[in-house]
Amino acid sequence: MPAGDVVEAMLQRDCGGVRTALERAHREGAWLAAGPLDPGIRLRADDTLLRIGNAAGEAHPIIGEGMSMALQSSWLLCAELLAPAFDPRGATRQRALARRYAQAWRQAFAPRLRLAALFAHAAMRPVASALLMPLAARWPALLTHGARWGGKITPLAEAATLDSLPALAAMADADAALRRGSPVDAQRSLRNPP
Ligand SMILES: Cc1cc2nc3c(=O)[nH]c(=O)nc-3n(C[C@H](O)[C@H](O)[C@H](O)COP(=O)(O)OP(=O)(O)OC[C@H]3O[C@@H](n4cnc5c(N)ncnc54)[C@H](O)[C@@H]3O)c2cc1C
Repeated sequence: MPAGDVVEAMLQRDCGGVRTALERAHREGAWLAAGPLDPGIRLRADDTLLRIGNAAGEAHPIIGEGMSMALQSSWLLCAELLAPAFDPRGATRQRALARRYAQAWRQAFAPRLRLAALFAHAAMRPVASALLMPLAARWPALLTHGARWGGKITPLAEAATLDSLPALAAMADADAALRRGSPVDAQRSLRNPP
């Protein structure tokens, strides 16, 4: 049988929630598959392009952090790019920014990647997973701790910085309008931040 059908049959057999949810569902077309997993850090301090999301690095999906890391890494990079002190002119300043960003990225995400790798290897080894499953059943709070260790509840952006985003976006819009030679639009952007 095709792999998709086997996995679907197994989920329907072993998981009541899936069975109920799919009771009246009809699949359209064949099952689609994703490419192989490729966890690891790809970003480097001497990168000449600025990577975010999976292009920067990937945690094993066992902790389900890919989307969050994609958004948070772009947040980290934008915070560097929009910092009032940053002047984008000159290769030296750009390299310094890439280094600062790479350092912030590693600080924020490297522990998450290591934890994900640990969980993944434990789950893939029969002896370790045989120990883990009863532990999680006996102490469900372990999952809460796992979420905390995985960085799920630690916001990267401070509330005050988030509050300043509309003003920064308005300034970027106004700047673009001025470059287009439209000071009226620039004024409008500053008066009505998004
Ligand atoms: C099956 C599956 C389940 C997942 N489940 C979860 C989950 O439950 N929770 C979670 O947090 N994460 C999950 N992830 C991981 C998450 O989807 C990714 O980590 C996240 O989407 C990465 O975001 P990104 O922007 O870096 O890359 P992507 O979302 O992959 O976006 C990259 C985009 O660039 C486009 N692109 C590529 N090359 C080019 C090119 N040369 N020119 C133009 N465009 C190009 C691609 O088409 C794509 O649209 C899952 C991933 C998969 C595959």
